[in-house]
Amino acid sequence: AVPLVVAINTSTAAQNGMLIRDRIAMEEARNLDTVMFDKTGTLTKGEQGVVGVHVADGWTEQRAFEIAAGVEGDSEHMIARAIRNAAEERGVSRVAVSNFENLRGLGVKATVDGETVHLGGPNLLEQLGIERPEELVAFADEAGSNAQTVVYLVQDESNIVAAFALADVIREESRRAIDALHEMGIEVAMLTGDSEDVAKAVAEELGIDQYFAEVLPEEKDSKVTRLQSEGKLVAMVGDGVNDAPALTRADVGIAIGSGTDVAIESGDIILVDNNPLDVVRLVRLSKASYRKMQ
Ligand code: ADP
Ligand code: MG
Repeated sequence: AVPLVVAINTSTAAQNGMLIRDRIAMEEARNLDTVMFDKTGTLTKGEQGVVGVHVADGWTEQRAFEIAAGVEGDSEHMIARAIRNAAEERGVSRVAVSNFENLRGLGVKATVDGETVHLGGPNLLEQLGIERPEELVAFADEAGSNAQTVVYLVQDESNIVAAFALADVIREESRRAIDALHEMGIEVAMLTGDSEDVAKAVAEELGIDQYFAEVLPEEKDSKVTRLQSEGKLVAMVGDGVNDAPALTRADVGIAIGSGTDVAIESGDIILVDNNPLDVVRLVRLSKASYRKMQ
């Protein structure tokens, strides 16, 4: 039978916008040392818009959008959605592509008119061994200092023909959540597949103690393990498919309700209202509930 105090706790939790799938994790939440947040879709809304475009000589923005939107195919990634929306807003139709491939944590790849086209971030360029020309470094630096994400359209695995800057919005509640966690003596970390400069700008804006950038999907859980090996009790908060192993690995896995099914299935606790402040409520609720039990 479920002890009464836990039953009360569970319904209080529901009223506070959280679903508890693992009671033990809920109990552990009162002793947390570190909360690690995923950036995109968790601390930010994950609703990106294209705010800047740079094209190589001989290219037009229209052509760049036609190809980029085509290459994104039906990808559910928010970058894909942002590129397709921007193309649509400009009245640009997408090119037909074949051999679509999703390169997890890097970007996407497809064939257009018999040529291989890639679209992705700095990790992708590194993988392909491509150096950016000076004007693109300047474009990316400017975007990065404004916490904008840059993705590159690459032809033939060698030529960058366009770059897109995307802006996301930090959730209003993120700042307050981080301040409140600090007041409780809890350290705050951030994990992202996004570039170093975007991660740095967001971490500085939010007062995050420690961040890990350009983390590949298969490396995300090892960052949680690293903190645990320092003796810390760690919560992970995330929304994406890529966050699932880290959510499982963490002592307390907290999934964002609007996140992907895989993330939700991996979470011990689900934040139904997608509100980072509910992480604070969760710790408070855990402290209050389990104090009563002793
Ligand atoms: P995050 O951890 O920020 O949610 P992901 O692991 O999903 O990020 O992606 C990491 C990086 O890979 C992105 O910042 C982007 O540079 C690139 N990327 C991933 N998917 C796509 C896509 N569909 N189109 C373009 N770039 C992508
Ligand atoms: Mg995410």
